Amino acid sequence: MFETIETFQTQVACDGGGGPLGHPRVYLHIDPKQDNRVTCPYCSRTYVLGHPHLGHAA
Ligand SMILES: [Zn+2]
Repeated sequence: MFETIETFQTQVACDGGGGPLGHPRVYLHIDPKQDNRVTCPYCSRTYVLGHPHLGHAA
């Protein structure tokens, strides 16, 4: 039931989106050398690093 959010940045700010899962804003770092994702320790949302080179004609 936890959300997975795609991002194109290795640093993301999460505040839980307000509501019952809201929390103070924290910054999470995605390490591309790991598994390209980070899970917020507060609200358990998972941020997944997308592929910025796909879907854009250079
Ligand atoms: Zn969060």
